[in-house]
Amino acid sequence: MEFRDLKRQYAHLKDRIDSAVADVMADGRFISGPQVAQLEKALAEYAGVKHCITCANGTDAITLSLMAMGVGDGDAVFVPDFTFFASGESPASLGATPVFVDVDERSFNMSPEELERAVVRVKEEGKLVPKAVVAVDLFGCPADYRGIKQVCEKYSLLLLEDGAQGFGGMLDGKRACSFGDVSTTSFFPAKPLGCYGDGGAIFTDNDDYAAMIRSLCVHGKSGEDKYDNIRIGVNSRLDTMQAAILIEKFKVFGEYELDRVNEAAGWYDECLKESGLMLPVIAEGFYSSWAQYTVKLPAGADRAELQQFMKSKGIPTMVYYPKPMHRQGAFVGTDSGIADCPVTEQLCGCVLSLPMHPYLTYDEVKYVCECLQEALD
Ligand SMILES: *Cc1c(COP(=O)(O)O)cnc(C)c1O
Repeated sequence: MEFRDLKRQYAHLKDRIDSAVADVMADGRFISGPQVAQLEKALAEYAGVKHCITCANGTDAITLSLMAMGVGDGDAVFVPDFTFFASGESPASLGATPVFVDVDERSFNMSPEELERAVVRVKEEGKLVPKAVVAVDLFGCPADYRGIKQVCEKYSLLLLEDGAQGFGGMLDGKRACSFGDVSTTSFFPAKPLGCYGDGGAIFTDNDDYAAMIRSLCVHGKSGEDKYDNIRIGVNSRLDTMQAAILIEKFKVFGEYELDRVNEAAGWYDECLKESGLMLPVIAEGFYSSWAQYTVKLPAGADRAELQQFMKSKGIPTMVYYPKPMHRQGAFVGTDSGIADCPVTEQLCGCVLSLPMHPYLTYDEVKYVCECLQEALD
């Protein structure tokens, strides 16, 4: 069994993807070909925002957005302590200080109350200027933007939605990648909407941010002329081949893949309801795109041993994430290494992610659950 079965997905989509790739090869416009703008238009419409700008990967998408927001030296950027490294790496790469905030134990996402506590602490200390929040839609479920937006408004903070895992999710009828002043996603192959290499995108309703990001992506070019460089930018583009692949994958994403992962999550919920595991909770008004199905093991369970047992049954499992952000070596000994995040500490010790993708069958889910039960017993 595969953790996220991209080969099975390709077997379903082979004809359309092969033909889309062949078209790009024949057409020869490998950078900024027409498929790139076509994809951006479709993604912006889907997310319900005015602008979508594709780029080279999800990490660049965050960094470019923070650059456009003017984040840099002396700024505090609030980031959940429980996330993938890039969420904190991007602000740090611009000279800002990530301030790690604890998460909610049920949703795994940033706690608005803990966010406010961290903002007040930074203001009182007076060393850094509270500037922006990077809220992460962890495992596919949007962060609590009802609460987070209130804190952002109260303290005049910019909001960046890191939707690398969240594309396709919803909150109160609004789609993920529409909640931030700027929102981002990743098309890394294993994300809910993945390409066949690296890729990313940025979403915003703000015309000024959009123009700035379009410039920054292509060496700080001026609006019209590619060889008139008016600022220092980077080279970060989604290539035409990836855009053509994504156009095809995006069609089935909306047609049935999102439904399928939600169905698979329902099977897990049903099969594991008496297992003694804590199952993922999707609160009222939220909809997940199920980047991961993550359970919490009971106190005392030996996770490594359990994973080994599952492996012996042919079932891959993963630990997202084994280490709080503030304990990552890159942050130890810096101001970002100081954080009070007991929930994250606890989660890092007990979470376990199970195989999840749109092509899982009911029998496979049942087998995973039976083996898990056997291991727990
Ligand atoms: C994957 C991921 C990223 C980075 O995306 P890449 O395309 O791999 O650069 C950023 N944030 C989160 C939460 C992610 O899961």
